[in-house]
Amino acid sequence: MTITLELLAPFSGPAIPLERVPDPVFAGLMMGDGLAVEPMSSTLLAPCKGTVGQLARTGHALTLIADGGVEVLIHIGIDTVKLAGQGFRPLVAVGDRVAAGQPLVEVDLDAVARRAPSLQTMVVVADAERFCFTGRAEGWLEAGRSPLLTLTAREAASSGASADGPEREGEAVVGHEGGLHARPSARVQQAVKAFASEVIVEFGGKQANARSVMALMSLGVAERDTVAVRASGADAEAALAAVVAVLETHSAAGHAPVAVHAAPAVAGRLAGVAAAPGLAIGRVVRLDVFDMALPEAGAGALAERERLSAALRAVRERVQHGIDAALRRGATAESDIFAAHLALLDDPELLAAAERGIDSGAGAGLACRLAIRAQCAVLAGLGNQLLAERVADLKDIERQLLVAMYGEPEQGPALFDASILVAEDLAPSALTRLPRAKVAGIVTAAGGASGHVAILARALGIPALVACGPDALSLTPGQALILDARAGLVNPRPSEAELDDAAVEIARLAARERALQASAKGPAITLDGAAIEVAVNIANADDAREGVAHGADAVGLLRTEFLFIDRREAPTEDEQTEAYQAVLDALDGRNAIIRTLDIGGDKDVPYLQLPPEPNPALGLRGIRTGFAYPDMLDAQLRALLRVKPLSRLRILVPMIADVGELIRLRGRIEALAGEMGLAERPQLGVMIEVPSAALLADQLAKHADFLSIGSNDLTQYTLAMDRCNAALAARIDALHPGLLRLIAIAVDGASKHGKWVGVCGAMASDPQAVPVLIGLGVAELSVSPRLVPEVKNLVRGLSLQQCRGEAERLLALNSAQAVRARITELWPAA
Ligand code: PEP
Ligand code: MG
Repeated sequence: MTITLELLAPFSGPAIPLERVPDPVFAGLMMGDGLAVEPMSSTLLAPCKGTVGQLARTGHALTLIADGGVEVLIHIGIDTVKLAGQGFRPLVAVGDRVAAGQPLVEVDLDAVARRAPSLQTMVVVADAERFCFTGRAEGWLEAGRSPLLTLTAREAASSGASADGPEREGEAVVGHEGGLHARPSARVQQAVKAFASEVIVEFGGKQANARSVMALMSLGVAERDTVAVRASGADAEAALAAVVAVLETHSAAGHAPVAVHAAPAVAGRLAGVAAAPGLAIGRVVRLDVFDMALPEAGAGALAERERLSAALRAVRERVQHGIDAALRRGATAESDIFAAHLALLDDPELLAAAERGIDSGAGAGLACRLAIRAQCAVLAGLGNQLLAERVADLKDIERQLLVAMYGEPEQGPALFDASILVAEDLAPSALTRLPRAKVAGIVTAAGGASGHVAILARALGIPALVACGPDALSLTPGQALILDARAGLVNPRPSEAELDDAAVEIARLAARERALQASAKGPAITLDGAAIEVAVNIANADDAREGVAHGADAVGLLRTEFLFIDRREAPTEDEQTEAYQAVLDALDGRNAIIRTLDIGGDKDVPYLQLPPEPNPALGLRGIRTGFAYPDMLDAQLRALLRVKPLSRLRILVPMIADVGELIRLRGRIEALAGEMGLAERPQLGVMIEVPSAALLADQLAKHADFLSIGSNDLTQYTLAMDRCNAALAARIDALHPGLLRLIAIAVDGASKHGKWVGVCGAMASDPQAVPVLIGLGVAELSVSPRLVPEVKNLVRGLSLQQCRGEAERLLALNSAQAVRARITELWPAA
């Protein structure tokens, strides 16, 4: 049935577009779409017939449930809740049936006008996405007579989702630390994308579409809160289960949590929350709020919608690039943050609010700003610190969209050699755009220790103090100061003596850091004399240099697919040789394991046009893709065989399932090396990432020079848990005894032929896994560059003999939790 509803003017007076009312929540259409009236009559009349659904105790707002279930909110004036009922006399009660034009509330216009910022009265339709607004009044209106709005229900939601079909209901106890903030909400949104059903999450009398990160955050759900979940549609059951699972997953609020404390006040010092540790001396550089002047009116809805889409495309592309680059560097903190930004850019409610702004005549920039700032106001007002900290992310998105629409308004800030960035709050992208070497510290008036800038500052090693309050904004550009993030204090007017003392302390800390670095360069030898190679996982020559700088003994895995993705065609043989040679050249005589292309599964390249598969992780991927595209595989093998010296190159093959594939590949290398007239051959290794490869390791080791355990995939295939499924993230643990047994079998098989085994999956970077892997006989650990000193330090404190005995016993345990609990007892420092 198609619902058409006509709403009449509730007061006499001029009609006002909602975007112009002086309240960001209504103006940003966050309460829904509608129209406002400047009241010139003193009795509020019902805009349609219906039932009074809610009536504020204070009489300033009510809802009417019209026929067909359409909910209409009428809000008299701005900030009128504060009048505590003075000036309002309700004439109806909740549950009353009312006729169109019937008096609802008597308003003392003079009294209200004196005490409220505005009398403008908003008539808003909740759930506005379901309707087309086919009529909107302009000009003067007569109360109870002039049509205000006409709306018609849309046939289906634009997301492609459909609520037609069975309904399922459930509950979830939210497991995410800090509740439903941006990253968990983005995971819920991701999970629901796989389904056609509509999913609604309900909490505290409010509802949110699970496809909207903004709506989910606006529920204000805290950790351990119970929410109701309703799914309706063809795949309701599965959608409900997926959303409940993601909601219940435990996740930490921030990476590498720090002890958060606000320093006690000290006279003459500015106190804040230490978000990233350290001590710095520097000069103030103000990064003030981005407040670009924008054209108010648009160039027509069509042109402005196109401007918005183009900006969204551009910013999405940039953010995706940021994610890829961060992943290549192994900077997961950074990539997670940008992934949350991507989810905000895809948020249907935010986009719908911006589009409504455009449709009512605003320019795309203003419409975006109003939609985003309204959401900022909602988040800031929820009383949840973690959600309030997401305001900086939203403002960052606003800035990026406006720059994409109208261009960069100004050059970047002029930096000192040691700059302390001072701002109300800092956008993550504002930080990553600046040269790291010139940023000595960060001081913000707002923000919190779990804000994304704080996470980035920790990842980049920049001392940061946040939530310092408005006094931070009185710091003047160029002023020298001492930032002691360890004590949570800023000394804004340091004396010469204090500056000298701080400089001495900074030098002492740097010397200690250098000592750690220097010892990282030495070999990692256990207490009983076993040498373990600590290598790095990299994507390019820059990473190789970073690895060497952190003391890596070798490159344990170069994922070559990063050379192939994000481009229109495959790299040429020459390009590839150049890239591989650059890595070898960056290593100062160390060896590099370079893996052949591992495309397919979660790594796609558009130019190969891989056929769609029902189960990509179980389809054409790894070496299977290589054999399916023999020219591409040959080009890569030739490019690898051209690097010098071949004695430092080790070729690694992904996704081998049995020895036939290995023999076939070795045959190809032999043939190509023969054609190229090479006397030398590089070593050839096999990834152990398919359970059959672990079980058949003895057969593989006969034909391979070494084995390298890809624990990420080996875990996924052993536990039958998708490594990309956020709902399973808490359970997909490489320390599962099933996996440990496979590793033991693989090491045993390799040792029969005197071959060594390394680990290049994320398991090698997990300090708790290190003693177990060493105990199982693993000889090489390939980790992310910044972790090399830590892992080496850890190895140096272990006894191989003890690790062996304990690892054997761990194989008998029955869960990953039991394994971890035992490791905590045995090696508390791990
Ligand atoms: C692995 O599977 O552990 C591995 C190192 O390969 P990737 O993560 O690239 O699939
Ligand atoms: Mg893998």
